[in-house]
Amino acid sequence: MREIRGKSLSLLIKEDDIRRRVRELGKEIEEDFSDSEDFVVVGLLKGAFVFVADLVREIDLPARIDFLWVSSYGQGMESSGSIRIVKDLDTDIEGRDVLLVDDILDTGITLREVYDFLKIKNPSRLKTCVFLDKKGRRKVEFEADYVGFEVPNVFLVGYGLDWGELGRNLKGVYAVED
Ligand code: 5GP
Ligand code: MG
Repeated sequence: MREIRGKSLSLLIKEDDIRRRVRELGKEIEEDFSDSEDFVVVGLLKGAFVFVADLVREIDLPARIDFLWVSSYGQGMESSGSIRIVKDLDTDIEGRDVLLVDDILDTGITLREVYDFLKIKNPSRLKTCVFLDKKGRRKVEFEADYVGFEVPNVFLVGYGLDWGELGRNLKGVYAVED
């Protein structure tokens, strides 16, 4: 049994299922953006780094890849309410086709704010992709264009998602048991 800080982890999504789903998402995105002349993938640090790394290798299109770092959850398990830009993009996205990628859509606060922040930079297209979606938890209206898996309202770690910076390097997605 895997543990973090004495709490046991139970496997929710295994590596093989992730690989299969990420491949499907990549092909879907590849098709939808196949007409794009200037495609940019924007990942949100830190949580999306694993998903972005796998996803972009399943999208057979010329792509720029950049990361935006916003602070949201801090060390705990609860949403802090609003976001702060820690590191802005290096890439100019004006007139480009952008895919915004995050690890998990929960209250929707993060993606809603980041979406609006990127929109101001005038991309010609702005789509969103999340690895996980906790649909029942939304506090603001926001739906992603591409969703890997719908998940229940439990705290998850692995595949980039952390609990106080631990657990990001787990290959599967695990629920932290109470
Ligand atoms: P939102 O702003 O939609 O509430 O939250 C999005 C962010 O909250 C994610 O990028 C992630 O950092 C964090 N988050 C939400 N749910 C979970 C969870 O179950 N596990 C982890 N590790 N982070 C989560
Ligand atoms: Mg986090």
